[in-house]
Amino acid sequence: MFFDVVIVGAGAAGLMCAATAGARGKKILLVDHADSVGKKIRISGGGRCNFTNLHTSPKNFISNNPHFGVSALRRYGVGDFITLVKKHEIAFHEKTLGQLFCDISSKEIIAMLVKECTDVNVEILLEKSVSEIKKSDDFFEMKIGEEVFQAGSLVIATGGPSIPKMGATSFGYEVARQFKLKIIQPIPALVPLTFDQKLLAKTVELSGVAIDAIVSCGKIKFAEAILFTHRGISGPAILQISSYWKKNEVIIINFAPKKDVFLWLQEEKKNKPKSEIQNILAQILPKSFVNFLLGEVGHHGFLAEMSNQKLKEIGNFINGWSVMPSGTEGFAKAEVAAGGVDTDEISSKTFAAKKVPGLFFIGEVLDVTGWLGGYNFQWAWASGKAAGESV
Ligand SMILES: Cc1cc2nc3c(=O)[nH]c(=O)nc-3n(C[C@H](O)[C@H](O)[C@H](O)COP(=O)(O)OP(=O)(O)OC[C@H]3O[C@@H](n4cnc5c(N)ncnc54)[C@H](O)[C@@H]3O)c2cc1C
Repeated sequence: MFFDVVIVGAGAAGLMCAATAGARGKKILLVDHADSVGKKIRISGGGRCNFTNLHTSPKNFISNNPHFGVSALRRYGVGDFITLVKKHEIAFHEKTLGQLFCDISSKEIIAMLVKECTDVNVEILLEKSVSEIKKSDDFFEMKIGEEVFQAGSLVIATGGPSIPKMGATSFGYEVARQFKLKIIQPIPALVPLTFDQKLLAKTVELSGVAIDAIVSCGKIKFAEAILFTHRGISGPAILQISSYWKKNEVIIINFAPKKDVFLWLQEEKKNKPKSEIQNILAQILPKSFVNFLLGEVGHHGFLAEMSNQKLKEIGNFINGWSVMPSGTEGFAKAEVAAGGVDTDEISSKTFAAKKVPGLFFIGEVLDVTGWLGGYNFQWAWASGKAAGESV
């Protein structure tokens, strides 16, 4: 059977690409090995899909080539996706930091994209895998299930390998390798960080404690909540920094970003000399965390008895705890993969592989990784749209 375009992967980018190319009158087959489309959209944003971010700009993306995404993100912007959401009368709200969520359910976004596809006669084939891809001068030939199909263009939209139990695979990288395209080693990103056993023995009591903090790694900083876990540390600020963190690097956590704690403790010492340090610190931090930090610095007692040196050590800990995570929780817990098909291989205008006419890569399979907060979906929409206009 012949199609103008076969798109492998009916996730965010594949659905957008199919709807766009279908609207141009192309005969489209959208294939997925899962039993339903858009599984990651369904679980995203706690079931409400953080579908874009009002503040999207190229600086919210990580890639070996930071300029690669600029053109697609400019051509299909946040406003364009909001217009689509409004056309389908899906109610939404800004939660925080420009993050837009559905009021009711992420299923509405999936239903919207499926309607956009079926309205333009996209054929959707589920529970089928693609194998034996061959390219001749004019078309691709591949096995889909047990049948052989031909297509003028082949779009790879199979995402990254995070959360394999949701159907994620490394298929896109295998296709890239088959056609000798370079890959930037994919690593888990937007992922909780782990502590070694020694540190964990001390922090395990803190599991579930959340604190608004600033977390930095080198020059990169994020101000959001952190959350101690039974394996280490998570929460939005940690997920964000994990995309930049490399093994054997330290991260610095400021647990009281609005206060110079040393100066504040000196004032408190003057005003409340008979107060115990743990009671003073419990005014600004959870008690269990105060116990942990005083254990770490080894200072206890009444303020009046505490030297400035001791207060400084406590202040330094709270305003800049330096910790070296032992690793990450891996692809099983990562929201996305950093790395992927090297963007040097891909046209930033059409998303076609420069060396392989007719072969396109879109979405997370590429070496473009968004911050937490709706940026990854905006990338999927923008890259899917750009390829859909080019196939
Ligand atoms: C728990 C979680 C929550 C998230 N929340 C958000 C959020 O709120 N906002 C945000 O912006 N991003 C979020 N993300 C990230 C976002 O889901 C992805 O970046 C985005 O889905 C990538 O789109 P994609 O189309 O490239 O890939 P996907 O949406 O992953 O789609 C890939 C598709 O390809 C299919 N596939 C894979 N391998 C094969 C194969 N071999 N054969 C056939 N089909 C195959 C899969 O079944 C899937 O349908 C979240 C991710 C996770 C894991």
